[in-house]
Amino acid sequence: MATAVVHYAAAAISDRGCKRPSNEDAFGFSVEHGVYAVCDGMGGAAAGEIASSLAVAEVMQFLTHRDGSNPLPVDAEAAVAAANQAIFSRAQSSQKLSGMGTTLVALLAEERRAWVLNVGDSRGYRLRNSRLEQITVDHSLVEEQMRMGRMSRMEALRSPLRNVITRALGTQSCVMPDVFEIDAESGDLFLLCTDGLTRELSDSLIESLLRLDVPLEELCTRLVTAANQAGGHDNITCLLVRAAA
Ligand code: CA
Repeated sequence: MATAVVHYAAAAISDRGCKRPSNEDAFGFSVEHGVYAVCDGMGGAAAGEIASSLAVAEVMQFLTHRDGSNPLPVDAEAAVAAANQAIFSRAQSSQKLSGMGTTLVALLAEERRAWVLNVGDSRGYRLRNSRLEQITVDHSLVEEQMRMGRMSRMEALRSPLRNVITRALGTQSCVMPDVFEIDAESGDLFLLCTDGLTRELSDSLIESLLRLDVPLEELCTRLVTAANQAGGHDNITCLLVRAAA
């Protein structure tokens, strides 16, 4: 029988990686409010950094100041809409920021219920009973091609179009996140991460690292170190959330 979750603990690291001049990823979390978010920004100059940090700031601001009158997933969708609007209008205000956007993957946890919201190709996973499962579905061109049977996983990994995402925050006036309602059990370990991690490390390698019985901070360090050892071609961000009884 599943044990009730009474509390969560979290840790996160964002790393520039080995090749990129700056870090356009961002993360934020509040264990108290059950809100965890990871963003991967894109756009010229410093625009990507602005988009991802704006998204995290908006989502955190919105979801740590709830009055409790709406269910969490309703407020979460409103938070995504507010973040989208904030980036979109900021992008309109300056030529240099035009077209900037960001991915967003967020976990919202309330006792044994949790929701994962996703826009773009950052990912949410859950490790349960030592098995890793991907919760989110990438909003990317290669993922869509694979789902239509037009591309194999191997071709997708090598495709020159693998960076093309089909949904982003801030590039349109409206955006719809995917919302996955899940349950949380004591012992579950959630991972939110950017593609700088998942491009470098296979799911089976991530799974084997997450099985290690070490503190969350140490797990984050090991994931980032492994991604850097595999090349560190992109910024790497991982946020881990453990549910415990
Ligand atoms: Ca990235």
